[in-house]
Amino acid sequence: MPRVVFNKLEKLYQEMQNSYDQVAAETGFTCDGCPDNCCNSFFRHHTRVEWAYFWKGLEQCRPEIRREIVERAGEYVEQMNTDLSQGRDPLIMCPVNFDGWCVLYHHRLMICRLHGVPSTHTAPGGRSREFPGCFRCREKTEHLSHVPRLDRTRFYHQLAWLEQSYVGPKIVKMDRVNMTLAEMIMHGPPFKQ
Ligand code: SF4
Ligand code: SF4
Repeated sequence: MPRVVFNKLEKLYQEMQNSYDQVAAETGFTCDGCPDNCCNSFFRHHTRVEWAYFWKGLEQCRPEIRREIVERAGEYVEQMNTDLSQGRDPLIMCPVNFDGWCVLYHHRLMICRLHGVPSTHTAPGGRSREFPGCFRCREKTEHLSHVPRLDRTRFYHQLAWLEQSYVGPKIVKMDRVNMTLAEMIMHGPPFKQ
Protein backbone atom coordinates (compact mmCIF):
# COMPACT_ATOMS: atom_id res chain seq x y z
CA MET A 1 0.00 0.00 0.00
CA PRO A 2 2.61 2.68 0.90
CA ARG A 3 4.45 1.86 -2.33
CA VAL A 4 1.40 2.68 -4.46
CA VAL A 5 0.83 5.94 -2.57
CA PHE A 6 4.53 6.83 -2.73
CA ASN A 7 4.51 6.24 -6.51
CA LYS A 8 1.59 8.66 -6.79
CA LEU A 9 3.39 11.15 -4.56
CA GLU A 10 6.46 10.97 -6.81
CA LYS A 11 4.22 11.65 -9.81
CA LEU A 12 2.69 14.63 -8.00
CA TYR A 13 6.15 15.94 -7.13
CA GLN A 14 7.08 15.69 -10.81
CA GLU A 15 4.00 17.72 -11.76
CA MET A 16 5.00 20.36 -9.21
CA GLN A 17 8.47 20.43 -10.73
CA ASN A 18 7.03 20.88 -14.22
CA SER A 19 4.86 23.81 -13.09
CA TYR A 20 7.76 25.34 -11.21
CA ASP A 21 10.06 25.03 -14.24
CA GLN A 22 7.42 26.63 -16.46
CA VAL A 23 6.96 29.69 -14.21
CA ALA A 24 10.72 29.95 -13.67
CA ALA A 25 11.27 29.90 -17.44
CA GLU A 26 8.55 32.53 -18.03
CA THR A 27 10.15 34.86 -15.47
CA GLY A 28 13.77 34.02 -16.36
CA PHE A 29 14.33 33.02 -12.73
CA THR A 30 16.99 30.60 -11.49
CA CYS A 31 18.72 29.98 -8.16
CA ASP A 32 22.14 30.19 -9.83
CA GLY A 33 24.48 32.53 -7.98
CA CYS A 34 22.01 33.25 -5.18
CA PRO A 35 23.87 34.76 -2.21
CA ASP A 36 21.22 33.42 0.17
CA ASN A 37 20.10 29.90 1.00
CA CYS A 38 16.41 29.63 1.74
CA CYS A 39 16.89 26.25 3.46
CA ASN A 40 17.14 28.27 6.69
CA SER A 41 13.54 29.49 6.27
CA PHE A 42 11.14 28.41 9.02
CA PHE A 43 8.57 26.01 7.55
CA ARG A 44 6.15 23.56 9.06
CA HIS A 45 4.75 20.59 7.14
CA HIS A 46 1.31 19.08 7.38
CA THR A 47 1.08 15.58 5.95
CA ARG A 48 2.09 12.14 7.19
CA VAL A 49 2.49 10.86 3.65
CA GLU A 50 5.29 13.35 2.91
CA TRP A 51 6.77 12.74 6.34
CA ALA A 52 6.88 8.97 5.69
CA TYR A 53 8.28 9.43 2.18
CA PHE A 54 11.01 11.68 3.53
CA TRP A 55 11.87 9.02 6.12
CA LYS A 56 12.11 6.44 3.34
CA GLY A 57 14.87 8.60 1.85
CA LEU A 58 16.51 9.10 5.23
CA GLU A 59 16.62 5.34 5.80
CA GLN A 60 18.43 4.93 2.48
CA CYS A 61 21.21 7.34 3.52
CA ARG A 62 24.61 6.07 4.56
CA PRO A 63 24.52 5.43 8.35
CA GLU A 64 27.10 8.13 9.12
CA ILE A 65 25.10 10.73 7.15
CA ARG A 66 21.89 9.67 8.84
CA ARG A 67 23.52 9.93 12.28
CA GLU A 68 24.73 13.42 11.47
CA ILE A 69 21.29 14.49 10.22
CA VAL A 70 19.65 13.20 13.42
CA GLU A 71 22.24 15.00 15.54
CA ARG A 72 21.69 18.25 13.63
CA ALA A 73 17.93 17.83 13.90
CA GLY A 74 18.23 17.59 17.69
CA GLU A 75 20.25 20.82 17.75
CA TYR A 76 17.74 22.45 15.42
CA VAL A 77 14.78 21.60 17.68
CA GLU A 78 16.62 22.89 20.74
CA GLN A 79 17.49 26.20 19.06
CA MET A 80 14.00 26.49 17.57
CA ASN A 81 12.37 26.07 20.98
CA THR A 82 14.69 28.69 22.47
CA ASP A 83 13.94 31.15 19.65
CA LEU A 84 10.18 30.60 19.83
CA SER A 85 10.12 30.91 23.63
CA GLN A 86 11.89 34.27 23.28
CA GLY A 87 9.49 35.48 20.59
CA ARG A 88 11.98 35.22 17.70
CA ASP A 89 11.37 33.60 14.33
CA PRO A 90 13.91 30.77 14.05
CA LEU A 91 16.49 31.22 11.30
CA ILE A 92 18.36 27.92 11.41
CA MET A 93 19.82 25.91 8.56
CA CYS A 94 17.83 22.76 7.76
CA PRO A 95 19.56 19.67 9.20
CA VAL A 96 19.51 18.06 5.74
CA ASN A 97 21.48 20.87 4.09
CA PHE A 98 25.18 20.03 3.89
CA ASP A 99 27.46 22.77 2.54
CA GLY A 100 24.57 24.48 0.76
CA TRP A 101 23.12 21.32 -0.80
CA CYS A 102 20.07 19.25 0.11
CA VAL A 103 21.29 15.69 0.65
CA LEU A 104 17.71 14.37 0.45
CA TYR A 105 16.72 16.38 -2.59
CA HIS A 106 14.55 13.64 -4.12
CA HIS A 107 12.66 13.21 -0.85
CA ARG A 108 12.25 16.88 0.09
CA LEU A 109 8.75 18.02 0.98
CA MET A 110 6.24 20.00 -1.04
CA ILE A 111 7.01 23.41 0.39
CA CYS A 112 10.70 22.99 -0.49
CA ARG A 113 9.58 22.31 -4.06
CA LEU A 114 7.23 25.27 -4.44
CA HIS A 115 9.18 27.96 -2.60
CA GLY A 116 10.89 30.50 -4.82
CA VAL A 117 8.55 31.35 -7.68
CA PRO A 118 5.38 33.50 -7.35
CA SER A 119 2.34 31.35 -6.70
CA THR A 120 -1.32 31.44 -5.83
CA HIS A 121 -3.79 29.27 -3.94
CA THR A 122 -7.59 29.29 -3.94
CA ALA A 123 -9.24 27.90 -0.80
CA PRO A 124 -12.49 25.82 -1.05
CA GLY A 125 -14.54 28.92 -0.14
CA GLY A 126 -13.10 30.74 -3.16
CA ARG A 127 -10.71 33.02 -1.26
CA SER A 128 -7.37 33.39 -3.05
CA ARG A 129 -3.95 33.98 -1.56
CA GLU A 130 -0.90 35.09 -3.47
CA PHE A 131 2.70 34.28 -2.57
CA PRO A 132 5.27 36.67 -4.05
CA GLY A 133 8.16 34.18 -4.28
CA CYS A 134 11.59 34.60 -2.73
CA PHE A 135 13.37 37.96 -2.52
CA ARG A 136 15.34 37.26 -5.68
CA CYS A 137 12.31 36.28 -7.69
CA ARG A 138 10.51 39.40 -6.46
CA GLU A 139 13.39 41.52 -7.77
CA LYS A 140 13.06 39.74 -11.10
CA THR A 141 9.29 40.18 -11.41
CA GLU A 142 8.38 43.45 -9.68
CA HIS A 143 8.61 45.46 -12.92
CA LEU A 144 6.32 43.08 -14.85
CA SER A 145 2.72 44.13 -15.54
CA HIS A 146 1.67 40.47 -15.46
CA VAL A 147 3.51 38.18 -13.08
CA PRO A 148 3.25 34.48 -14.04
CA ARG A 149 2.21 32.38 -11.03
CA LEU A 150 2.29 28.73 -10.11
CA ASP A 151 -1.20 27.66 -9.00
CA ARG A 152 -0.83 25.55 -5.87
CA THR A 153 -4.54 24.69 -5.63
CA ARG A 154 -4.63 21.32 -7.38
CA PHE A 155 -1.36 20.29 -5.75
CA TYR A 156 -2.82 20.89 -2.29
CA HIS A 157 -5.96 18.94 -3.24
CA GLN A 158 -4.02 16.02 -4.62
CA LEU A 159 -1.73 15.94 -1.61
CA ALA A 160 -4.74 15.96 0.74
CA TRP A 161 -6.19 13.05 -1.21
CA LEU A 162 -2.91 11.11 -0.99
CA GLU A 163 -2.79 11.83 2.74
CA GLN A 164 -6.23 10.25 3.13
CA SER A 165 -5.18 7.23 1.07
CA TYR A 166 -2.03 6.82 3.13
CA VAL A 167 -3.52 7.25 6.61
CA GLY A 168 -6.87 5.57 5.93
CA PRO A 169 -10.15 5.98 7.90
CA LYS A 170 -8.34 6.68 11.19
CA ILE A 171 -7.41 10.08 9.79
CA VAL A 172 -10.65 11.56 11.18
CA LYS A 173 -9.49 10.84 14.75
CA MET A 174 -5.91 12.05 14.32
CA ASP A 175 -4.50 15.49 15.05
CA ARG A 176 -3.40 17.59 12.12
CA VAL A 177 0.35 17.44 11.52
CA ASN A 178 2.14 20.75 12.11
CA MET A 179 5.83 19.99 12.39
CA THR A 180 9.17 21.19 11.16
CA LEU A 181 11.31 18.73 9.25
CA ALA A 182 13.69 18.56 12.22
CA GLU A 183 10.83 17.46 14.48
CA MET A 184 9.81 14.83 11.92
CA ILE A 185 13.36 13.51 11.97
CA MET A 186 13.50 13.40 15.78
CA HIS A 187 10.11 11.73 16.03
CA GLY A 188 10.91 8.91 13.59
CA PRO A 189 8.48 7.85 10.83
CA PRO A 190 4.82 8.74 11.45
CA PHE A 191 3.80 5.10 11.82
CA LYS A 192 6.04 2.37 13.17
CA GLN A 193 6.37 -0.57 10.74
S1 SF4 B 1 14.61 30.09 -4.07
FE1 SF4 B 1 15.33 32.21 -4.10
S2 SF4 B 1 16.29 32.57 -2.09
FE2 SF4 B 1 16.10 30.35 -2.40
S3 SF4 B 1 18.07 29.73 -3.27
FE3 SF4 B 1 16.65 30.12 -4.99
S4 SF4 B 1 17.03 32.25 -5.55
FE4 SF4 B 1 17.90 31.97 -3.51
S1 SF4 C 1 14.69 19.37 2.94
FE1 SF4 C 1 16.28 19.99 1.52
S2 SF4 C 1 15.35 21.58 0.21
FE2 SF4 C 1 14.06 21.36 2.05
S3 SF4 C 1 14.83 22.92 3.48
FE3 SF4 C 1 15.90 20.98 3.93
S4 SF4 C 1 17.80 21.07 2.75
FE4 SF4 C 1 16.42 22.62 1.91
